[in-house]
Amino acid sequence: MDSKLKILFAAAEVVPFAKTGGLADVAGALPKVLVEQGHDVRIVMPRYGSIDGAKYGLRPIIGPFTIPHGKKEIKISIEQSDAIAGVPTYFIRNDYLYDRYSLYGQPDDDHRFIAYCRGMLEMLPQIDWTPDIIHCNDWHTGLVPVYVKTIYAANPALRDIGTLYTIHNQAYQGSFPAEVMNLTGLPLGLFTWDKLEFWGQFNFMKAALIYADIVSTVSETYAKEIQTPEYGEGLDGVLTYRKKDLYGILNGIDYSIWNPRTDKLIPAAFTPEHLEGKTACKCELQREMGLTVAPKVPLFGLISRLSSQKGLDLLDKVLPALLTDQVTQVVILGTGDQYFHDMLTKLAGLHPEKLAVVLKFDNALAHRIYAGSDAFLMPSRYEPCGLGQMISLAYGTIPLVRATGGLADTVHEFEPQAGAGNGFVFTSYTPKALRMAFGRALAAYADPAQWAAIMQNAFQCDYSWETSAKKYLEVYKKIRGKVPVT
Ligand code: ADP
Repeated sequence: MDSKLKILFAAAEVVPFAKTGGLADVAGALPKVLVEQGHDVRIVMPRYGSIDGAKYGLRPIIGPFTIPHGKKEIKISIEQSDAIAGVPTYFIRNDYLYDRYSLYGQPDDDHRFIAYCRGMLEMLPQIDWTPDIIHCNDWHTGLVPVYVKTIYAANPALRDIGTLYTIHNQAYQGSFPAEVMNLTGLPLGLFTWDKLEFWGQFNFMKAALIYADIVSTVSETYAKEIQTPEYGEGLDGVLTYRKKDLYGILNGIDYSIWNPRTDKLIPAAFTPEHLEGKTACKCELQREMGLTVAPKVPLFGLISRLSSQKGLDLLDKVLPALLTDQVTQVVILGTGDQYFHDMLTKLAGLHPEKLAVVLKFDNALAHRIYAGSDAFLMPSRYEPCGLGQMISLAYGTIPLVRATGGLADTVHEFEPQAGAGNGFVFTSYTPKALRMAFGRALAAYADPAQWAAIMQNAFQCDYSWETSAKKYLEVYKKIRGKVPVT
């Protein structure tokens, strides 16, 4: 077997083209590192109307061709960008399906992502390139393993492709009414409880879990958690059934983007040895957010989708008293559930000098918050991997997290005696446990020697992609061992 692998990385969002969450960060970073390690890696994603074609140099490479779609055919074309150095990115273009105001949440998402899965496989003979592995990510790609093993099982160009399916969030499964079976073009006989049917519904994620050669998720702890009813979102039985083929590989972060030495989006650079720049970032953030400019007041940042997954319901119960009783400040950047928008807006109105809330998606502001905060809040109910805690560590901003999923694997409670640990961690999902974690963080902050120690521990953490990429390569090679090459 050739040690150089050909990998098609399939993801519905990819930095820098389109992003709503961590999946896009992963899809923009892991392929680059695999290329640096000598592999031929390409990406495929939908050509959303929101992508700036001129900025990223998108160009048509394959003119319109038809692909099967339900009982009909639709036309797609292929565009390419080389904006990610060394990683050709292919875009499946069909303006009716993808030229929309948002990436997901459209009533015809079933159509959109069935066409994406089918389209990428039909694209391969057109570009005359057959990958060894298609690395599928999240439910939008869930039909690829099924198609390879059924409709294309006799197609010499596609039948030997191995598939890895990575779960970035167990809660988003792509569940649709049973009639979707007709759209997929798959034999109706596959709609059974042990294959594609899931409690009467058609479920993209279940389809992938059954058909992918190997399944992975984005941290070791989450790989164990999703096999339990508490975290499995109904699919814990299927995941337990596949547990011999289920791996947990932690995401990394891209230190060329998240680096306080070189970050052009923050007001002042800093290093672990020279922290004056961090103080400048903090004061500038306080000024920008309309908070009292006070370098010695502890400042907590939070950058997140505003949903109960992210622990916003716990903060709802804890923040009012914290802001009333403690000398502290909080900056929150996020969008999400209207309930939390209203809750935070109201609270900020009560404490304008202590709480600043910005309800939008703003990458540059996110950089300024990571750099200017003292501590970073992630009290998540569940967290497959979490990037925010790893990014904040790179900026010497100390994470306060709940011990779940990737947060449990990357943040360890600070022990004042030993001087070990890089954050503050609570376990039970209760306001009391979160309050106590705030208490420990504030106590450590009050002692400059302790805070200096914990910051240095944070700066030493290394969650670069190189380590994780090696683990993915081992998994790809296992898949090649499984797939009968004819
Ligand atoms: P998830 O994928 O569940 O949303 P992650 O922690 O894995 O959470 O990744 C979230 C990513 O999105 C991080 O890079 C974070 O900085 C970024 N992010 C989340 N909300 C915002 C926002 N409102 N503005 C800018 N960046 C955001």
